[in-house]
Amino acid sequence: MKILGIESSCDETGIAIYDTEHGLIADQLYSQIELHAQYGGVVPELASRDHVRKIVPLIQQACQEANLQLKDLDAVAYTAGPGLVGALLVGACVGKSLAWALDLPAIEVHHMEGHLLAPLLETDKPEFPFLCLLVSGGHTLLVDVQSLGDYKILGDTLDDAAGEAFDKTAKLLGLPYPGGRYIAELAAQGDATRFKFPRPMMNRPGLDFSFSGLKTHTRVAWEKAQDDCKNEAETQQLKADIAACFQLAVVDTLTKKCLRAIKQTGHQELVISGGVSANIALRETLAVMGQKHRFKSYFPSMKYCSDNGAMIAFAGAMRFTHKVTAQNALIKAYPRWSLEQLS
Ligand code: ATP
Ligand code: MG
Ligand code: FE
Repeated sequence: MKILGIESSCDETGIAIYDTEHGLIADQLYSQIELHAQYGGVVPELASRDHVRKIVPLIQQACQEANLQLKDLDAVAYTAGPGLVGALLVGACVGKSLAWALDLPAIEVHHMEGHLLAPLLETDKPEFPFLCLLVSGGHTLLVDVQSLGDYKILGDTLDDAAGEAFDKTAKLLGLPYPGGRYIAELAAQGDATRFKFPRPMMNRPGLDFSFSGLKTHTRVAWEKAQDDCKNEAETQQLKADIAACFQLAVVDTLTKKCLRAIKQTGHQELVISGGVSANIALRETLAVMGQKHRFKSYFPSMKYCSDNGAMIAFAGAMRFTHKVTAQNALIKAYPRWSLEQLS
């Protein structure tokens, strides 16, 4: 079975084809980062228009890459939510119309289920059930995953998502958007012991997160210490130290909550996915922690941490094999949609 996957929930147009026998046979990605960078964040209307421009050529390129024609497809999967409504509607319109015209089943994919299943594209992959930490630009979720579609949210963020906190802190330090990877690069040259940043929600029971207080603390520390810098070299070192302290606080909080959830649920496999799962410090800390506390961590390969069509084609293929398809001509998008509503 060959499933076309369409991702357009935010600022990446991703088109891929997953073959249930041969794995990924096409994977096309176009990122709008340059378009939005000048505004310091995603401009929804520009995102929708750019998806309109790119989506059909990318589908054609994906077919070329896989050396097949549209009529060779068995189903069309697209991200139906959550995300920016205009951006989602582009993928939903194209996906649903294509399925309708080719007389194929259409599959509505939940974007976060796409992230959650992305590590299953790897050769060394987790088996259900497992615990999952989803850390992206818009979400910070700890999920108890029993099987496909059986998800229980154990922890959520009360304010900013982890990726959002990285991006806002990067902006504060004058780094480009999206800033997660720039913070990580700077942090590698910084001293994470120079300041003691708070570990939000650690002293309370439960598995929820909060990052807005940490962000404010980081801003105050940066502004205060900048006044004491005598030259540019000192300011640059301070910036790296602030990035390192911030990253350590986020990684420490995320990993300790994972450990807490592992102890609470008894899971021995931990899946980490979403853009922030590309963070090396996070990966290394979990590897060390896993050896000590006997759990194994699974990540997507770097290119599948952030948004992509491959994870949507793959999630679509899994849903297709389990016969979860949308049998009508309605074109729908769900800007807000909880993982717990899936079946
Ligand atoms: P959502 O999936 O919640 O709808 P999104 O799709 O915008 O949000 P992703 O594409 O999964 O989010 O991830 C993007 C986020 O990942 C950005 O906030 C970015 O800064 C962050 N990120 C990317 N690389 C790194 C890194 N190395 N360290 C920390 N954060 C990173
Ligand atoms: Mg993105
Ligand atoms: Fe995403």
